Amino acid sequence: MAQEALIIGAGFAGAVCARRLADKGYTVTLLEKRGHIAGNMYDEADAQGIRVHWYGPHIFHTSIQRVWEYLNRFTDFFPYEHRVLGWIDGQLVPIPFNYASLEALRPEQAPVLEQMLSNAFPGQKRISILDLLNRREPPLKELGEYIYDRVFVHYTAKQWQLPIEQVDRSVINRVPVVLGYDDRYFQDTWQAMPAEGYLPLFQALLDSPNICVCLNCDGLERLTLSEGRICLDGREWIGPVIYTGPLDELFRQQYGPLPYRSLELVTERYDREWFQPAAVVNYPNEEDFTRITEHKYLTGQVLPGTTIMKEYPLAYVPEKNLPYYPIASAESEALYQKYRTLADGYPRLHLCGRLAEYRYYNMDGVISRALELSDSIED
Ligand code: FAD
Ligand code: UDP
Repeated sequence: MAQEALIIGAGFAGAVCARRLADKGYTVTLLEKRGHIAGNMYDEADAQGIRVHWYGPHIFHTSIQRVWEYLNRFTDFFPYEHRVLGWIDGQLVPIPFNYASLEALRPEQAPVLEQMLSNAFPGQKRISILDLLNRREPPLKELGEYIYDRVFVHYTAKQWQLPIEQVDRSVINRVPVVLGYDDRYFQDTWQAMPAEGYLPLFQALLDSPNICVCLNCDGLERLTLSEGRICLDGREWIGPVIYTGPLDELFRQQYGPLPYRSLELVTERYDREWFQPAAVVNYPNEEDFTRITEHKYLTGQVLPGTTIMKEYPLAYVPEKNLPYYPIASAESEALYQKYRTLADGYPRLHLCGRLAEYRYYNMDGVISRALELSDSIED
């Protein structure tokens, strides 16, 4: 008899696991509490036909060959290299901060500083702002302090509502300082966007006679976990269960809530061809929002008018908004590990994804993890 698998959540974690298990012969039940598939990648067109990334801009990039090849089974891609500008001291300059940013903001000192940078970091194309701050040479230290202040300190305070010193280095180091003119936001081998958007990619992923998707279906209202047994609607589930939602919610927050940051995403429509000169413009300093995305750059669509999205960081309030970003810290990791220990008491339960693993994963990291997890589940 075919084995049954239960999956909670239809983002990349859940959808990739669903497809892989379906291809292995499992009958898969996929519960999704939203009214649509694709998780935070959901990008249905707005009234003007522009595909908007309704849960924030999602740019695909990976150096993991297996992930790239797997996705290519389900969609065509068009090449897309992401470039970001930042509004700094009254100018739009490349982010990550690079030599062009330096030359625009410090034209007179730039040649000397560039020479000093290449002497201080021989052979390196990208460095951490934290390494620049630690330099002893006064001009480099001063440059580090300038970039730190104009690019990182206030953006980070808005995004995380914490002083930058309390934000995990791994978060800050996602955005380097570039020693050269490479103005791409990512350096991965494959940088591309799904030709018709993410939603058709997810439709193709889930297009299997072995997958049954239930939308508007909150798994936590139907699951019970007790003494190593998992029940769905009161019936014990004997196959694998893959959970991709917040781990604290699965255990009714019995040790208290895991902290997350949320966002308010505000879209605006303009009756002109373009709103801004790049897909994303970061506003590290004066504004309340952190960045503006202009979606047509991400979709490659040629349409009149344009739709933009502003991101206002917010505290996460359950029921009111969404848990977008896990907050990395020693305390949150310790709390997460307590929930993880509870999860370990359920041999059929597998955790996968940004929320269930409480990790600041990019899409490719989640897909890679979902491929590995589904490999490890026995046929
Ligand atoms: P999700 O996409 O969040 O999917 C989880 C799903 O589970 C959701 O659909 C949710 O509704 C469902 N769910 C939760 N609880 C339940 C329940 N109780 N019952 C049923 N369903 C439930 N990555 C990139 O690679 N490039 C980017 O440019 C990029 N930009 C990002 C921008 C923002 C603003 C954010 C927040 C993230 C960004 N990411 C980006 C990361 C990317 O969103 C994640 O890596 C990806 O969404 C992880 O997929 P997932 O399946 O783990 O989670
Ligand atoms: N960051 C910053 N200034 C910027 C861009 C990013 O200080 O102009 C910091 C900030 O702390 C942010 C982190 O770098 O949370 C990661 O940025 P990224 O663009 O990777 O964030 P995401 O796209 O995941 O929201």
